[in-house]
Amino acid sequence: MEIACQPARAIADLRALAELTGGQGGARRLCWSEEWVAARGLLRERLADLPVVVDVDEAGNLWARLDGERPETVVIGSHLDSVPSGGWLDGALGVMGALETLRTIAEDGTPPCTVSLVDWADEEGARFGRSLLGSSAVCGTLDPEAVRDLRDAGGERLADVLARHGVDVDRASVATSRLADVRAYIELHIEQGPVLEGLALPVGTVLGTVGVERNRVLFRGQAAHAGSTPMAHRRDAFLAASRFALTLRDIAVRHGGVCTTGDVACTPGVVTAIAGVAAVLLDQRHLDADVLAAMLADARVAASEAAAAEGCTVTWEPIWRIEPIPFHDELIAAARDACLAVSGSDHALPSGPLHDAAEMARRVPTVMVFSSSTKGISHAKEEDTPVEHLELAIRAYANTVGHAITRVAEGSL
Ligand SMILES: [Zn+2]
Repeated sequence: MEIACQPARAIADLRALAELTGGQGGARRLCWSEEWVAARGLLRERLADLPVVVDVDEAGNLWARLDGERPETVVIGSHLDSVPSGGWLDGALGVMGALETLRTIAEDGTPPCTVSLVDWADEEGARFGRSLLGSSAVCGTLDPEAVRDLRDAGGERLADVLARHGVDVDRASVATSRLADVRAYIELHIEQGPVLEGLALPVGTVLGTVGVERNRVLFRGQAAHAGSTPMAHRRDAFLAASRFALTLRDIAVRHGGVCTTGDVACTPGVVTAIAGVAAVLLDQRHLDADVLAAMLADARVAASEAAAAEGCTVTWEPIWRIEPIPFHDELIAAARDACLAVSGSDHALPSGPLHDAAEMARRVPTVMVFSSSTKGISHAKEEDTPVEHLELAIRAYANTVGHAITRVAEGSL
Protein backbone atom coordinates (compact mmCIF):
# COMPACT_ATOMS: atom_id res chain seq x y z
CA MET A 1 0.00 0.00 0.00
CA GLU A 2 1.41 3.36 -1.04
CA ILE A 3 1.32 6.12 1.60
CA ALA A 4 2.14 9.40 -0.13
CA CYS A 5 2.63 11.46 3.01
CA GLN A 6 3.65 15.11 3.16
CA PRO A 7 6.72 15.26 5.42
CA ALA A 8 6.49 19.07 5.60
CA ARG A 9 3.35 18.68 7.73
CA ALA A 10 5.25 16.50 10.20
CA ILE A 11 8.10 19.03 10.33
CA ALA A 12 5.53 21.77 11.06
CA ASP A 13 4.10 19.65 13.91
CA LEU A 14 7.62 19.11 15.28
CA ARG A 15 8.29 22.84 15.19
CA ALA A 16 4.98 23.55 16.94
CA LEU A 17 5.92 21.03 19.63
CA ALA A 18 9.36 22.60 20.06
CA GLU A 19 7.71 26.02 20.34
CA LEU A 20 5.35 24.77 23.04
CA THR A 21 7.74 22.63 25.11
CA GLY A 22 11.24 23.63 24.02
CA GLY A 23 13.27 26.82 23.82
CA GLN A 24 16.79 27.98 24.55
CA GLY A 25 17.43 25.30 27.14
CA GLY A 26 16.18 22.42 24.98
CA ALA A 27 13.13 20.17 25.21
CA ARG A 28 11.24 20.15 28.52
CA ARG A 29 9.01 17.11 28.19
CA LEU A 30 10.10 15.11 31.22
CA CYS A 31 7.50 12.39 31.62
CA TRP A 32 4.73 12.98 34.18
CA SER A 33 5.39 16.76 34.10
CA GLU A 34 3.10 19.63 33.07
CA GLU A 35 5.11 20.17 29.87
CA TRP A 36 4.70 16.51 28.94
CA VAL A 37 0.95 16.84 29.48
CA ALA A 38 1.02 19.95 27.27
CA ALA A 39 2.89 18.02 24.55
CA ARG A 40 0.21 15.36 24.65
CA GLY A 41 -2.40 18.11 24.47
CA LEU A 42 -0.90 19.25 21.18
CA LEU A 43 -0.92 15.67 19.87
CA ARG A 44 -4.57 15.30 20.92
CA GLU A 45 -5.43 18.53 19.08
CA ARG A 46 -3.90 17.16 15.89
CA LEU A 47 -5.64 13.81 16.34
CA ALA A 48 -9.01 15.54 16.85
CA ASP A 49 -9.05 16.26 13.10
CA LEU A 50 -8.82 12.53 12.26
CA PRO A 51 -11.46 9.75 12.33
CA VAL A 52 -9.67 7.95 15.18
CA VAL A 53 -10.56 6.68 18.66
CA VAL A 54 -8.18 8.24 21.20
CA ASP A 55 -7.66 6.83 24.70
CA VAL A 56 -5.00 6.17 27.33
CA ASP A 57 -4.23 2.64 28.57
CA GLU A 58 -3.61 1.42 32.15
CA ALA A 59 0.13 2.14 31.79
CA GLY A 60 -0.34 5.74 30.63
CA ASN A 61 0.33 5.15 26.91
CA LEU A 62 -1.79 7.25 24.55
CA TRP A 63 -3.39 5.38 21.62
CA ALA A 64 -5.20 6.65 18.50
CA ARG A 65 -6.94 3.85 16.57
CA LEU A 66 -7.94 4.17 12.94
CA ASP A 67 -10.25 1.24 12.29
CA GLY A 68 -9.59 -0.69 9.10
CA GLU A 69 -11.49 -3.34 7.17
CA ARG A 70 -9.94 -5.94 9.46
CA PRO A 71 -9.20 -5.80 13.21
CA GLU A 72 -5.60 -6.98 12.75
CA THR A 73 -3.46 -3.99 13.60
CA VAL A 74 -0.22 -2.29 12.62
CA VAL A 75 1.09 -0.10 15.47
CA ILE A 76 3.12 3.01 14.68
CA GLY A 77 4.61 5.54 17.11
CA SER A 78 7.36 6.50 19.54
CA HIS A 79 7.56 8.73 22.63
CA LEU A 80 6.90 12.42 23.33
CA ASP A 81 8.73 12.44 26.67
CA SER A 82 12.29 13.76 26.73
CA VAL A 83 15.25 13.98 29.06
CA PRO A 84 15.60 17.36 30.82
CA SER A 85 17.14 19.86 28.35
CA GLY A 86 16.78 17.26 25.62
CA GLY A 87 16.58 17.63 21.87
CA TRP A 88 13.60 18.47 19.65
CA LEU A 89 13.68 15.17 17.72
CA ASP A 90 14.37 12.29 20.12
CA GLY A 91 11.02 10.47 20.26
CA ALA A 92 9.08 13.45 18.90
CA LEU A 93 10.17 12.64 15.31
CA GLY A 94 8.70 9.16 15.67
CA VAL A 95 5.40 10.43 17.04
CA MET A 96 4.96 13.22 14.50
CA GLY A 97 6.14 10.96 11.65
CA ALA A 98 3.56 8.39 12.74
CA LEU A 99 0.91 11.12 13.00
CA GLU A 100 1.60 12.25 9.42
CA THR A 101 1.49 8.62 8.26
CA LEU A 102 -1.85 8.07 10.04
CA ARG A 103 -3.23 11.36 8.66
CA THR A 104 -2.31 10.34 5.10
CA ILE A 105 -3.85 6.89 5.51
CA ALA A 106 -7.07 8.42 6.90
CA GLU A 107 -7.26 10.89 4.00
CA ASP A 108 -7.21 7.94 1.59
CA GLY A 109 -10.24 6.28 3.27
CA THR A 110 -10.61 3.12 5.35
CA PRO A 111 -7.34 1.16 5.41
CA PRO A 112 -7.37 -2.61 4.72
CA CYS A 113 -6.33 -3.29 8.33
CA THR A 114 -6.46 -1.26 11.54
CA VAL A 115 -3.64 1.22 12.23
CA SER A 116 -2.96 2.48 15.77
CA LEU A 117 -0.66 5.32 16.74
CA VAL A 118 0.94 5.02 20.18
CA ASP A 119 2.75 7.62 22.28
CA TRP A 120 4.61 5.50 24.84
CA ALA A 121 4.75 6.81 28.42
CA ASP A 122 8.13 7.37 30.07
CA GLU A 123 10.45 5.92 27.44
CA GLU A 124 13.39 7.86 28.84
CA GLY A 125 13.14 6.89 32.49
CA ALA A 126 14.80 10.25 33.13
CA ARG A 127 12.91 10.91 36.35
CA PHE A 128 12.88 7.53 38.10
CA GLY A 129 15.65 5.68 36.28
CA ARG A 130 13.38 3.03 34.71
CA SER A 131 13.37 3.36 30.91
CA LEU A 132 10.70 1.91 28.56
CA LEU A 133 8.10 1.98 31.34
CA GLY A 134 4.94 2.16 29.21
CA SER A 135 6.07 -0.21 26.47
CA SER A 136 7.36 -2.78 28.96
CA ALA A 137 3.95 -2.77 30.70
CA VAL A 138 2.21 -3.45 27.37
CA CYS A 139 4.75 -6.14 26.47
CA GLY A 140 4.45 -7.87 29.86
CA THR A 141 7.98 -7.29 31.13
CA LEU A 142 7.27 -4.61 33.78
CA ASP A 143 7.52 -5.80 37.38
CA PRO A 144 5.50 -3.38 39.56
CA GLU A 145 7.46 -4.56 42.62
CA ALA A 146 10.68 -3.30 41.06
CA VAL A 147 9.43 0.20 40.24
CA ARG A 148 6.70 1.08 42.76
CA ASP A 149 9.02 2.66 45.33
CA LEU A 150 11.55 4.27 42.99
CA ARG A 151 12.02 7.92 43.95
CA ASP A 152 12.86 10.98 41.87
CA ALA A 153 15.45 13.61 42.81
CA GLY A 154 12.81 15.42 44.87
CA GLY A 155 12.06 12.27 46.87
CA GLU A 156 8.65 11.56 45.31
CA ARG A 157 7.59 7.92 44.82
CA LEU A 158 6.95 6.66 41.31
CA ALA A 159 3.64 5.09 42.35
CA ASP A 160 2.40 8.42 43.79
CA VAL A 161 3.43 10.49 40.77
CA LEU A 162 1.85 8.03 38.31
CA ALA A 163 -1.35 7.93 40.37
CA ARG A 164 -1.74 11.68 39.79
CA HIS A 165 -1.80 10.87 36.07
CA GLY A 166 -4.43 8.16 36.51
CA VAL A 167 -1.95 5.26 36.37
CA ASP A 168 -2.10 2.56 39.05
CA VAL A 169 1.29 0.90 38.67
CA ASP A 170 -0.07 -2.38 40.03
CA ARG A 171 -2.66 -2.49 37.24
CA ALA A 172 -0.33 -1.29 34.45
CA SER A 173 0.11 -4.80 33.07
CA VAL A 174 -3.63 -4.90 32.19
CA ALA A 175 -2.44 -2.87 29.18
CA THR A 176 -1.03 -6.08 27.65
CA SER A 177 -4.55 -6.54 26.21
CA ARG A 178 -3.61 -3.80 23.70
CA LEU A 179 -1.47 -6.33 21.83
CA ALA A 180 -4.37 -8.73 21.14
CA ASP A 181 -4.75 -7.87 17.45
CA VAL A 182 -1.31 -6.33 16.86
CA ARG A 183 0.65 -7.91 14.01
CA ALA A 184 3.51 -5.43 13.47
CA TYR A 185 5.22 -2.40 15.03
CA ILE A 186 7.17 0.23 13.07
CA GLU A 187 9.08 3.10 14.73
CA LEU A 188 10.90 6.10 13.29
CA HIS A 189 13.72 7.68 15.33
CA ILE A 190 16.86 9.73 14.97
CA GLU A 191 20.03 7.65 15.09
CA GLN A 192 21.45 9.50 18.14
CA GLY A 193 24.92 8.48 16.92
CA PRO A 194 27.42 9.47 14.19
CA VAL A 195 27.30 6.41 11.89
CA LEU A 196 24.90 7.61 9.16
CA GLU A 197 26.36 11.11 9.07
CA GLY A 198 29.85 9.59 8.85
CA LEU A 199 28.77 7.67 5.75
CA ALA A 200 27.04 10.80 4.33
CA LEU A 201 23.69 8.95 4.43
CA PRO A 202 20.33 10.56 5.35
CA VAL A 203 18.51 7.39 6.48
CA GLY A 204 19.14 3.81 7.55
CA THR A 205 17.35 0.62 8.60
CA VAL A 206 17.79 -0.71 12.13
CA LEU A 207 18.69 -4.39 12.50
CA GLY A 208 17.83 -4.60 16.18
CA THR A 209 18.97 -3.33 19.54
CA VAL A 210 22.31 -4.50 20.85
CA GLY A 211 22.79 -6.74 23.86
CA VAL A 212 24.51 -5.21 26.88
CA GLU A 213 26.80 -6.74 29.52
CA ARG A 214 27.51 -4.36 32.39
CA ASN A 215 29.97 -5.32 35.15
CA ARG A 216 31.98 -3.82 37.97
CA VAL A 217 35.54 -5.15 37.77
CA LEU A 218 37.53 -4.82 40.99
CA PHE A 219 41.32 -4.88 40.86
CA ARG A 220 42.96 -5.31 44.26
CA GLY A 221 46.64 -4.54 44.91
CA GLN A 222 48.25 -2.89 47.93
CA ALA A 223 47.80 0.71 48.99
CA ALA A 224 51.21 2.13 49.98
CA HIS A 225 53.08 5.40 50.35
CA ALA A 226 53.74 7.22 47.05
CA GLY A 227 57.14 8.43 48.26
CA SER A 228 58.62 5.42 50.04
CA THR A 229 57.62 2.58 47.69
CA PRO A 230 60.05 1.99 44.79
CA MET A 231 58.42 1.24 41.44
CA ALA A 232 59.56 -2.40 41.44
CA HIS A 233 57.84 -3.03 44.79
CA ARG A 234 54.39 -1.80 43.86
CA ARG A 235 51.10 -3.66 43.44
CA ASP A 236 49.23 -0.76 41.83
CA ALA A 237 45.56 -1.57 41.18
CA PHE A 238 45.15 1.44 38.89
CA LEU A 239 47.96 0.22 36.62
CA ALA A 240 46.19 -3.14 36.33
CA ALA A 241 42.93 -1.32 35.48
CA SER A 242 44.80 0.76 32.89
CA ARG A 243 46.25 -2.31 31.14
CA PHE A 244 42.74 -3.79 31.17
CA ALA A 245 41.14 -0.66 29.64
CA LEU A 246 43.61 -0.56 26.75
CA THR A 247 43.05 -4.26 26.00
CA LEU A 248 39.28 -3.69 26.03
CA ARG A 249 39.64 -1.33 23.11
CA ASP A 250 41.37 -4.10 21.12
CA ILE A 251 38.65 -6.58 22.12
CA ALA A 252 35.91 -4.23 20.92
CA VAL A 253 37.64 -3.55 17.61
CA ARG A 254 38.39 -7.24 17.02
CA HIS A 255 34.75 -8.25 17.51
CA GLY A 256 33.13 -5.23 15.85
CA GLY A 257 31.37 -4.21 19.06
CA VAL A 258 31.89 -1.53 21.70
CA CYS A 259 33.52 -1.69 25.14
CA THR A 260 33.43 1.31 27.46
CA THR A 261 35.26 1.91 30.71
CA GLY A 262 32.95 4.62 32.01
CA ASP A 263 34.52 5.09 35.40
CA VAL A 264 37.49 4.00 37.50
CA ALA A 265 37.27 4.67 41.24
CA CYS A 266 40.55 4.33 43.11
CA THR A 267 40.91 3.72 46.83
CA PRO A 268 42.24 5.39 48.91
CA GLY A 269 42.05 7.96 46.10
CA VAL A 270 44.65 10.43 47.32
CA VAL A 271 47.67 11.81 45.51
CA THR A 272 50.15 10.45 48.06
CA ALA A 273 49.06 6.80 47.93
CA ILE A 274 49.31 3.97 45.40
CA ALA A 275 45.83 2.72 44.52
CA GLY A 276 45.04 -0.36 46.59
CA VAL A 277 41.72 -0.92 44.82
CA ALA A 278 40.58 0.20 41.37
CA ALA A 279 36.88 -0.37 40.63
CA VAL A 280 36.22 -0.29 36.89
CA LEU A 281 32.70 0.16 35.43
CA LEU A 282 32.57 -1.80 32.19
CA ASP A 283 29.84 -1.68 29.52
CA GLN A 284 30.04 -4.03 26.50
CA ARG A 285 27.56 -4.11 23.59
CA HIS A 286 27.01 -6.18 20.47
CA LEU A 287 24.06 -7.13 18.24
CA ASP A 288 25.07 -10.82 18.14
CA ALA A 289 24.58 -12.75 21.40
CA ASP A 290 27.43 -15.19 20.67
CA VAL A 291 29.88 -12.42 19.84
CA LEU A 292 28.82 -10.49 22.94
CA ALA A 293 29.51 -13.62 25.02
CA ALA A 294 32.93 -13.93 23.36
CA MET A 295 33.66 -10.26 24.11
CA LEU A 296 32.82 -10.84 27.76
CA ALA A 297 34.96 -14.01 27.90
CA ASP A 298 37.90 -12.14 26.33
CA ALA A 299 37.47 -9.31 28.83
CA ARG A 300 37.63 -11.80 31.72
CA VAL A 301 40.90 -13.23 30.40
CA ALA A 302 42.27 -9.72 29.83
CA ALA A 303 41.38 -8.68 33.39
CA SER A 304 43.14 -11.71 34.88
CA GLU A 305 46.24 -11.09 32.76
CA ALA A 306 46.31 -7.37 33.61
CA ALA A 307 45.95 -8.17 37.32
CA ALA A 308 48.73 -10.77 37.22
CA ALA A 309 51.07 -8.40 35.36
CA GLU A 310 50.78 -5.87 38.21
CA GLY A 311 50.78 -8.34 41.12
CA CYS A 312 47.07 -7.76 41.74
CA THR A 313 43.92 -9.87 41.92
CA VAL A 314 40.61 -9.27 40.18
CA THR A 315 36.94 -10.05 40.88
CA TRP A 316 33.78 -9.38 38.86
CA GLU A 317 30.35 -8.16 40.03
CA PRO A 318 27.46 -8.13 37.55
CA ILE A 319 25.50 -4.86 37.32
CA TRP A 320 22.96 -5.45 34.55
CA ARG A 321 22.54 -7.27 31.26
CA ILE A 322 20.09 -7.50 28.39
CA GLU A 323 20.16 -9.83 25.44
CA PRO A 324 20.36 -8.50 21.85
CA ILE A 325 16.88 -8.06 20.35
CA PRO A 326 16.95 -8.53 16.58
CA PHE A 327 14.18 -7.03 14.46
CA HIS A 328 12.03 -8.88 11.91
CA ASP A 329 13.78 -10.05 8.73
CA GLU A 330 10.93 -9.31 6.33
CA LEU A 331 10.28 -5.87 7.82
CA ILE A 332 14.02 -5.12 7.74
CA ALA A 333 14.00 -5.97 4.02
CA ALA A 334 10.93 -3.76 3.49
CA ALA A 335 12.54 -0.84 5.32
CA ARG A 336 15.76 -1.24 3.32
CA ASP A 337 13.76 -1.18 0.08
CA ALA A 338 11.89 1.92 1.27
CA CYS A 339 15.12 3.72 2.25
CA LEU A 340 16.69 2.85 -1.10
CA ALA A 341 13.61 4.06 -2.99
CA VAL A 342 13.46 7.48 -1.31
CA SER A 343 17.19 8.21 -0.83
CA GLY A 344 19.04 6.06 -3.36
CA SER A 345 21.05 4.57 -0.47
CA ASP A 346 20.75 1.47 1.65
CA HIS A 347 22.47 0.99 4.97
CA ALA A 348 21.50 -1.19 7.92
CA LEU A 349 22.91 -0.74 11.40
CA PRO A 350 22.27 -1.90 14.97
CA SER A 351 20.94 0.51 17.58
CA GLY A 352 23.18 1.08 20.61
CA PRO A 353 20.48 2.88 22.60
CA LEU A 354 17.40 0.92 23.66
CA HIS A 355 14.01 1.91 22.24
CA ASP A 356 10.37 1.00 22.85
CA ALA A 357 10.78 -1.07 19.67
CA ALA A 358 13.05 -3.42 21.64
CA GLU A 359 10.13 -4.25 23.94
CA MET A 360 7.70 -4.62 21.03
CA ALA A 361 10.14 -6.83 19.09
CA ARG A 362 9.83 -9.46 21.84
CA ARG A 363 6.14 -9.79 20.98
CA VAL A 364 5.46 -8.80 17.34
CA PRO A 365 7.36 -8.33 14.05
CA THR A 366 9.14 -5.00 14.46
CA VAL A 367 11.51 -2.70 12.61
CA MET A 368 12.83 0.86 12.97
CA VAL A 369 13.95 3.50 10.48
CA PHE A 370 16.65 5.98 11.52
CA SER A 371 17.36 9.46 10.23
CA SER A 372 20.90 10.79 10.59
CA SER A 373 21.90 12.80 13.66
CA THR A 374 24.06 15.89 13.21
CA LYS A 375 27.45 15.23 14.87
CA GLY A 376 25.80 12.20 16.47
CA ILE A 377 24.59 14.37 19.35
CA SER A 378 21.42 13.49 21.29
CA HIS A 379 20.00 13.90 24.79
CA ALA A 380 21.23 17.49 24.48
CA LYS A 381 19.72 20.74 23.27
CA GLU A 382 22.17 20.73 20.33
CA GLU A 383 20.47 17.63 18.91
CA ASP A 384 19.56 18.23 15.25
CA THR A 385 19.14 16.64 11.81
CA PRO A 386 19.06 18.34 8.38
CA VAL A 387 15.41 18.86 7.39
CA GLU A 388 15.98 17.04 4.06
CA HIS A 389 17.10 13.97 6.03
CA LEU A 390 14.03 14.18 8.27
CA GLU A 391 11.78 14.37 5.22
CA LEU A 392 13.43 11.37 3.54
CA ALA A 393 13.22 9.39 6.78
CA ILE A 394 9.49 10.16 7.14
CA ARG A 395 8.88 9.04 3.55
CA ALA A 396 10.86 5.81 4.01
CA TYR A 397 9.03 5.19 7.28
CA ALA A 398 5.57 5.70 5.74
CA ASN A 399 6.41 3.31 2.90
CA THR A 400 7.58 0.68 5.40
CA VAL A 401 4.29 1.08 7.27
CA GLY A 402 2.48 0.71 3.92
CA HIS A 403 4.26 -2.60 3.31
CA ALA A 404 3.29 -3.86 6.77
CA ILE A 405 -0.36 -2.86 6.26
CA THR A 406 -0.51 -4.75 2.97
CA ARG A 407 1.03 -7.88 4.48
CA VAL A 408 -1.16 -7.77 7.59
CA ALA A 409 -4.29 -7.26 5.47
CA GLU A 410 -3.30 -10.35 3.43
CA GLY A 411 -3.00 -12.30 6.65
CA SER A 412 0.66 -13.00 5.97
CA LEU A 413 2.30 -11.07 8.81
ZN1 LIG B 1 14.04 8.15 22.03
